[in-house]
Amino acid sequence: MTPTERTDPHAEIREEVAKLCARFPGEYWRKLDAVRGYPTEFVHALTESGYLAALIPEEYGGAGLPLSAAAAILETIHASGCNGAACHAQMYIMGTILRHGSDAQKQAYLPGIAAGTLRLQAFGVTEPTSGTDTTSLRTFARREGDRYIVNGQKVWTSRAEHSDLMLLLARTTPRDQVKSRTEGLSTFIVDMRTVLGKGLTIRPIRAMMNHNTTEIFFDNMAVPAENLVGEEGRGFRYILDGMNAERLLISAESIGDAKWFTERSVNYAKDRVVFGRPIGQNQGVAFPIARAYAQMRAAELLVGEGLARFEAGLPCGEQANMAKMLAAEAAWAAAEACVQTHGGFAFAEEYDIERKFREARLYQVAPISTNLILSYLAEHVLGLPRSY
Ligand SMILES: Cc1cc2nc3c(=O)[nH]c(=O)nc-3n(C[C@H](O)[C@H](O)[C@H](O)COP(=O)(O)OP(=O)(O)OC[C@H]3O[C@@H](n4cnc5c(N)ncnc54)[C@H](O)[C@@H]3O)c2cc1C
Repeated sequence: MTPTERTDPHAEIREEVAKLCARFPGEYWRKLDAVRGYPTEFVHALTESGYLAALIPEEYGGAGLPLSAAAAILETIHASGCNGAACHAQMYIMGTILRHGSDAQKQAYLPGIAAGTLRLQAFGVTEPTSGTDTTSLRTFARREGDRYIVNGQKVWTSRAEHSDLMLLLARTTPRDQVKSRTEGLSTFIVDMRTVLGKGLTIRPIRAMMNHNTTEIFFDNMAVPAENLVGEEGRGFRYILDGMNAERLLISAESIGDAKWFTERSVNYAKDRVVFGRPIGQNQGVAFPIARAYAQMRAAELLVGEGLARFEAGLPCGEQANMAKMLAAEAAWAAAEACVQTHGGFAFAEEYDIERKFREARLYQVAPISTNLILSYLAEHVLGLPRSY
């Protein structure tokens, strides 16, 4: 038993989530992958069991659990061969409404989200021209009486077709009229049901893996002024506030991926006999699996440290960023070892390895790429000069 397991307060949650996931085996995900379908039944099952409302306070109908419980849920989903990407955004986007929304907004949205009658799965930040340079985004929301008129475009807005609400980041004051580039951006709750086809167009993007991602166009889309979250012009701060939670949750998913790949590798390396002996007896096969395991364990400790600091209300940007980078790299090392261990069979769809291989790769790019994490560490942790 590892020290993490000995002290794991969420062992029961892990066990229950694993049982739920067992109802959604590889075959379920393979079928969806082929048609780029949305795992509606899986998301329903998670919602009905209350897992997607883990972080919503009890007064709004959620479970009021700490971030580490949400991390345990997502890690278990991934370690079971399932994919939390279909619904993970709900866990961290909701935090923006909880921390910065008005009482009326919390009452209007959180109980429905907790009950599963309202889906908040879409997060519109990235744009085709600005990329990682978020403060250069061009989507503009112009105040007109009691509403905002939004024009612009987003890209990679995942799950938009399977969500009722979108949290949108748009500029409300032109960049040349603000002192700092981080000012003049605002966050809105967009009820996509009311504007679809009336200023809002969603187009699916077929991607490397089944991620239900889209591009979105705003053409004079009207958003009621009451849907502005917090103060106008402070939206970038609100989004930044949620990023540590997002990074820690994604790290947990990568840890789960690494565990899934390693378990598959170990089982196969013990069973597969070539040249009259199990292939795992060859150090050339065993060592990459062992190395990836060590990488995963190190990253897992850092995820734990980040979660503990987050829950204690301490700064955790350093830990959350490092955890995200190292966990994604550990998952990738475990994926590589798994492919190599399985030889040709890794490429057969029925083994699920090629699917998980494609899915695990994303987290070195999104929601933030490795270079940007290294930039953060260089500048904010090590005090090196800002590079951009
Ligand atoms: C499947 C998928 C789902 C996504 N879902 C969402 C979503 O739901 N909502 C959302 O808002 N976004 C989403 N994204 C967008 C994702 O967050 C971005 O793709 C990611 O942040 C990288 O931005 P970019 O693609 O514009 O890359 P760019 O910013 O164009 O960067 C390209 C490369 O250059 C590097 N680079 C850029 N500038 C520097 C620098 N100064 N120093 C060093 N290296 C640099 C980057 O690290 C990267 O490797 C998703 C992306 C994908 C692929």
